[in-house]
Amino acid sequence: MAMNRRDTFKLVGVAAAAAAMPSIATASEKKSAPKKTSGKSVVVVGGGFGGLTIAKALRKKDKSIEVTVIEKNNIFMACPFSNTLLGGLDGVSLDTFVGDYFQPAGKYDYDFVHATVTAIDRKAKTVTTTAGDIAYDILVLSPGIAYDYEKQFPTWSAEKIAEVSQACPAALMPGNEHIALKRQLENMDDGNVIIIPPAAGKYRCPPAPYERTAMVANYVKNEGIEGKVIVLDTRNGKFAKGAAFQESWKDLFPDIIEYNGLTEIVDIDTEKKTIAYKVFQDEADTEGALKTEKYEVCNLIPINKCSPVVAMAGIEVDGAGYAMMDGYSFRSKTDSNIYVIGDAVTHAIPPSGQTAIWAAHRAAGQITDQLNAKENDPKAGLPAKAANVCYSMVGSKPEEAIMVTHTFSADPSGKLKGKGHVPKPKDGGGKFRSKGTAKATREWFGGVMRELFS
Ligand SMILES: Cc1cc2nc3c(=O)[nH]c(=O)nc-3n(C[C@H](O)[C@H](O)[C@H](O)COP(=O)(O)OP(=O)(O)OC[C@H]3O[C@@H](n4cnc5c(N)ncnc54)[C@H](O)[C@@H]3O)c2cc1C
Repeated sequence: MAMNRRDTFKLVGVAAAAAAMPSIATASEKKSAPKKTSGKSVVVVGGGFGGLTIAKALRKKDKSIEVTVIEKNNIFMACPFSNTLLGGLDGVSLDTFVGDYFQPAGKYDYDFVHATVTAIDRKAKTVTTTAGDIAYDILVLSPGIAYDYEKQFPTWSAEKIAEVSQACPAALMPGNEHIALKRQLENMDDGNVIIIPPAAGKYRCPPAPYERTAMVANYVKNEGIEGKVIVLDTRNGKFAKGAAFQESWKDLFPDIIEYNGLTEIVDIDTEKKTIAYKVFQDEADTEGALKTEKYEVCNLIPINKCSPVVAMAGIEVDGAGYAMMDGYSFRSKTDSNIYVIGDAVTHAIPPSGQTAIWAAHRAAGQITDQLNAKENDPKAGLPAKAANVCYSMVGSKPEEAIMVTHTFSADPSGKLKGKGHVPKPKDGGGKFRSKGTAKATREWFGGVMRELFS
């Protein structure tokens, strides 16, 4: 291997020291030359859903492939199912979502490096990290998303963005934002919670803001809080699992959820806890009426863009930074030694954890074939039925959920695309939601965490 387990722990120490003492020279400034690769060295950037899945899949497929995962967080936290923490569902705590990176690394014998990637040199085939340079033969990028406050609020200063992002946590990326949102809910008195889905473009887990709406309403209802959950959207009711969500909201929380489908955020005053926004009558209305609302908790999810890690590689990307793909494969269009998976791709498949897992397995097959000089058909196995299955909890007494499944196929334009179907379950009594689907939601999440960590 490029580094053994002891070396990995040393790197972890370097990274931790650098983080604790930011004034000292960074590891990259005093870097030594990276160790030579074996010819089958795969470096994976990002230890999230895509990254952990591909690391394990590569090692299971071909033991001669050496794998190194580089991850900036020191603890794994899952986003899927995390809205149930906000909803106060039984048996759900922070423990439900966390994982230990060294567990799968030890079991499947790959290296885990706790460091932040700061640069990628495609010519030298090296990744620069806060713990030194690491050489690769094949590079896999699964770094997820970033927020684009600047695009959505071009007049806001960096200070204003920092203030709003802290006061109104987006909670679309793993980590502290979810905890901050939960604390704010727990600390709130009577009053309103405002949920703002991303205003435009592709974003992580399209049903997530609407599942959050149901789960926060569930919390408000069960805690007896006098207040509303107000959604300020731009999609006019046309969102993922839209009919199923709206049916559940109407049945379960008719006096709590207020959905506004055509709005535009104008300003947020985090001191006074007020939000100014425009409400449009219909799609032809360009003026809109200005309104101000007081809130106790505000969840502003800004427009998404791709993690900047993809741009570091200098490969071709679209306007939001997502990687342009080589046909139906998960290889970059620009560089045959770089693969991109998870939310960072331009394939027209929904950005979800389940999709990242599906992509990771396909990319693992493509990489293994490339390293063993075998032909690979990136269309093999397509169309793939239920390649993505995504559940959303909508209530707790009784616990009920809705779901969508996607079939992935090869679009004539050269992309992979997904077609969704929102079923009415047999045990739903004619509704989209059911107790059986809620049980399947918990089972899906438990199964995914087991797959990632054991
Ligand atoms: C509230 C919510 C609910 C969701 N519900 C579902 C669901 O029910 N079902 C479902 O399938 N999906 C769901 N998702 C979506 C799912 O979480 C994402 O689609 C999935 O995590 C994408 O995987 P990924 O590997 O692309 O990115 P991630 O899992 O985010 O992993 C990216 C990793 O890269 C690391 N990284 C980034 N930059 C660097 C760097 N410079 N150096 C080192 N490491 C770096 C990050 O720290 C992160 O760990 C939900 C998401 C949210 C927010």
